[in-house]
Parts: sequence; structure tokens; C-alpha cells
Amino acid sequence: RQPLIALEKVDVHFSVKRGRRGGRAPLVAVDDVSLDVVEGEVLGIVGESGSGKSTLGRTMIGLQSPTAGRVRVGGVELDRRSRKGAEARRFGLQMVFQDPLGSLNPRLTVGRSLAEPLRNARMPRDRVRARTRDLLDDVGLPSNYADRYPHELSGGQQQRVAIARALATDPRAIVFDEAVSALDVSTQAQVVNLLIELREAKKLTYVFISHDIAIVNHISTRIAVMYLGRVVEIGEAAQLNRDGLHPYTVALRSAVPEVDPRLEAERRRILLDGPLPSPVDRPSGCRFHTRCPVAQLGRCSVDDPALLETAPGRWVACHFPGSLRPASGRP
Ligand code: SF4
Ligand code: MG
Repeated sequence: RQPLIALEKVDVHFSVKRGRRGGRAPLVAVDDVSLDVVEGEVLGIVGESGSGKSTLGRTMIGLQSPTAGRVRVGGVELDRRSRKGAEARRFGLQMVFQDPLGSLNPRLTVGRSLAEPLRNARMPRDRVRARTRDLLDDVGLPSNYADRYPHELSGGQQQRVAIARALATDPRAIVFDEAVSALDVSTQAQVVNLLIELREAKKLTYVFISHDIAIVNHISTRIAVMYLGRVVEIGEAAQLNRDGLHPYTVALRSAVPEVDPRLEAERRRILLDGPLPSPVDRPSGCRFHTRCPVAQLGRCSVDDPALLETAPGRWVACHFPGSLRPASGRP
């Protein structure tokens, strides 16, 4: 199938202040990422905070220009000189952020917040009201919520409104960046289930970005694992769960409790040494070698592994894929 969004060798660099003398250093947020988002899928992007996944998500919809490489939507390259958000509107791409109040104007009622994108899309006034009610209904809120202000809503309700706003103009794809991370666990589950229902009902494509691999596993059909600006593994969600090939994938997965009590009894959490290194000061060779439990330093600290396809649709960037096994003894 034709990819909806295609990234080709995308780099995103920022210049950051470094040290007391105020020198500047390049921060490589996204490093040579090639990735397709296929129509109808939920592509999960997982990694620690600082791995570049938010920047990658913003780049996919033209909110961030790549320093190098290309981003195409439906085969058409995004114009990197266009105004912020213009390409997202032109191509029908939306983004939902962690903080719903960031996308909702506190001085506008929910109804007016939802009407705004509809009016911008030149929907006739008399249809806007009905559409607003439908949108609230889609996200499980009563129609009288149109008259409320964001501060009168709970965090979960605010996020439902932000989702309704993203849905207003019938987008082709929505990028969720830590969209449920600020919610309590039971609200998280409700919102994630709402997203799953909406995707099926409206035939949407999602990119779901989170540091929480349990949630990413639950919602995604395919998962890309990021580490320090690189995609280190991609594959079907079920495969990555069962047998991650990259040691980082296996370590992340080991933090998730097993449903089966026998597997849970055998689960051993693989803890990584130390924090994520700075993207300003990336380790040589394989950038994971400073924390990798199975690194072979002669090779791994020198030689940067490329992302290679090991089976159809399965990509991994490691010299020794599959050498870190989950402890639960599965074959
Ligand atoms: Fe670990 Fe080496 Fe693989 Fe990097 S290349 S993930 S350091 S085994
Ligand atoms: Mg982030």
C-alpha cells in the first residue's frame, strides 16, 4: 500500500547553548530517520523522553522543518518554507498534545473552540452548531458541554475536547504526542479505548507517541522504537512484544507486567545503567553501547549499526540482534 506519510533520511538539528561561556552546540534530535506511515495503521513511537520522538512527530506534519531529508504526504513533498501549521492544514493532518489546555483557548467555551476550525474551513453557520454537537457526541461528552469553559472540565474531559477539535475537519491522520500521559490510569484507559473506537468508526490513521510502552502496545498495530534520535527497531506490535530483537526494545518491554501469571512469575525486569546520554554528546559507535547489557565493546563502541531489514517489515539496528532475551523463557 502507498504510504500516507513517508519520511526519507530525515535529520532535525537544533542549536543549543552549552556551558557557562555561552557557546553553542548542535543537538541532533532526529538522525537519519526513514519511515512510512501506512493508511489505516496505528504506528506507535516509543522511547525515553529526549529520544526525539516528539520532534519526529512534529516533522511528520510539517510543524517542524527537517534540516535534511524529505517528508511526503500522499506522495507530495511538504514545503519547508510554508508558515507553521499551514502544511498540516493543507494535507489534513492533526496533532493532539499532552496538555489539552495548550490547544484550547481558556477564554472560549468548548462550543466556540470546536466551531473555530469549522468556520476556518468555511462551514456555513447553521451547520456548525449541529457539527459541534456531533463532535461532542463522538468523544462521549453531552451536548450541553458546548457552553462550558475548559477550566470547568476534568483533565480527561479536556483531552476529549482536544480530540474532538482534531476530528473537526475530518483529518487523514492524527499524531498523538503523549496525549494520555498526564491523565490518571483509569482515565488513560478510557481515552485510549475511545481512540481505538474512533479509528475504526472513522477509518483514521494514527501516530501514537509515548514513553509508556504498555500503552503503545495496547493501541498500536506497528511500533517504532527510538533511541537518541534514531529508530532502532520497527515491526508489528505483536512481534516486538513477543521477541524484541534490539536489546533496548527487550529492556523497555521487560518493564510491562505479563497478563499470564506464569509468565509474570518468571519476568525479570532489565534495568539499564544510568540516564539517557545527552543528544549533544552522543556515544560513539552504537549509541546504545553505554547502557546495553550485551554490548561487545570492541565492535559496538566503534561501529554504528545501520537499520537493516531482518524479515519482511522487521527492521533492527544492532550488530547482535536477538542476543538479549526476555527472562520469561519463551522460545
Ligand atoms: Fe548493544 Fe551492540 Fe546491539 Fe548496540 S550494537 S544494541 S551495543 S549489542
Ligand atoms: Mg516529548
